[in-house]
Amino acid sequence: MSSYACRICHSSDYELVLDYGSVVPADAFLLSSKAIENEQRLPLTLVICKECRHLQTREVLDPAMLFSEYVWETGIPASIRRYCQEFADAVLVCAGNPEMPSIFEIASNDGTMLKEFKSRGSEVLGVDPARNIAQKANAAGIPTRVDFFGEEVAREVLAQHGEWDIVVARNVLAHVADLHGLIAGLGLLLGPQGTAVIEVPHLLNMYHELQYDQVFHEHIGYHSLDSIIRLCAMHELAVFDVEHIWIHGGTVRAYVTHAAGGRSPTPAVTEMLAEEQSAGILGLEVWQQFGDRAKTQKRLLRAELSSLRESGEMVVGYGASAKGQSMIQFCELDEGLVAYVADKSTMKIGTLAPGSHIPIVSPEQMRSDPVDVVVVFAWNFAREILEQEQEMRERGVKFLHPIPEPHYL
Ligand SMILES: [Zn+2]
Repeated sequence: MSSYACRICHSSDYELVLDYGSVVPADAFLLSSKAIENEQRLPLTLVICKECRHLQTREVLDPAMLFSEYVWETGIPASIRRYCQEFADAVLVCAGNPEMPSIFEIASNDGTMLKEFKSRGSEVLGVDPARNIAQKANAAGIPTRVDFFGEEVAREVLAQHGEWDIVVARNVLAHVADLHGLIAGLGLLLGPQGTAVIEVPHLLNMYHELQYDQVFHEHIGYHSLDSIIRLCAMHELAVFDVEHIWIHGGTVRAYVTHAAGGRSPTPAVTEMLAEEQSAGILGLEVWQQFGDRAKTQKRLLRAELSSLRESGEMVVGYGASAKGQSMIQFCELDEGLVAYVADKSTMKIGTLAPGSHIPIVSPEQMRSDPVDVVVVFAWNFAREILEQEQEMRERGVKFLHPIPEPHYL
């Protein structure tokens, strides 16, 4: 583990926001109980840079350890498919509806998004570090290079394919330690009139909704529009438009171009910056409160689950996302409080959750068991889960949303 320096401004002056203790990386699901003895607990702390106010984890792990067999596939929930269609529509409009545009995607996962552009007639190429998932994309006809994207990979892609009309970086800034390498590489690949699209979970939602479970070893930086603008400016890139969209608990979609193009920003950019400013999230004070609010939520959630256990109710969880594992470990939940967690991902069913060792089962098992309460750990898909489990709700099963304070849906 390297010594800490802010990953935007390189200052080493920080303030502690929340200590998660010693936890297991949130994607390290165990194939069997035999693997428990080799499980590695590592410190995790959320800090804020006193210089530029970028919120980030103090710790950075070796990315090769984290992402070589990544288990998150974008191809699963139906709402993700709807999001991909909306994304492609919006991005093509904002890029000025170029004819047959070429699209390059950083961290393209299983190619779900590129498939959307390809079906509209575009040339596409993805890069993703997870070998198993990139193989799936290639098998599905979406050319995907297995690599960590940075300046070096960008130069190679540039030499082989030239510049791109549209460069997409969804949910990747949060995962990357070398932010400058990523943005520099993005700038290299972007044609002079090109449009880059950067999406990150919005720091404003993280703050308001107490999404402290966005913090885990694989998810190390939390961005505002302000931090994206500053980072881009350091690489002669400029944000010219922005949207707030619903996915991942509230996301910023920033449209970026070369600063030299002189494109003036839309009012949406100024408005969102003002909103961030007035909420106080660009200062230090609200983040101290954030840490205290998270500790209170932990106490309330544990109290609710303990009281359910005492009254003999069967409690399970839904959604074995990395976020869920962050919350489960921060709140120190175990099988005694949450019998198991149901999830659709066939890669996760039959495994044990990292750190807590709570078993992961299929949604079918959850439906056939005498469950009383379901904790919605995948709260960002709460609506979809409620619709999907309508039959359980009709039977009187209750659904507990854990944040900002535990409440029944
Ligand atoms: Zn900084």
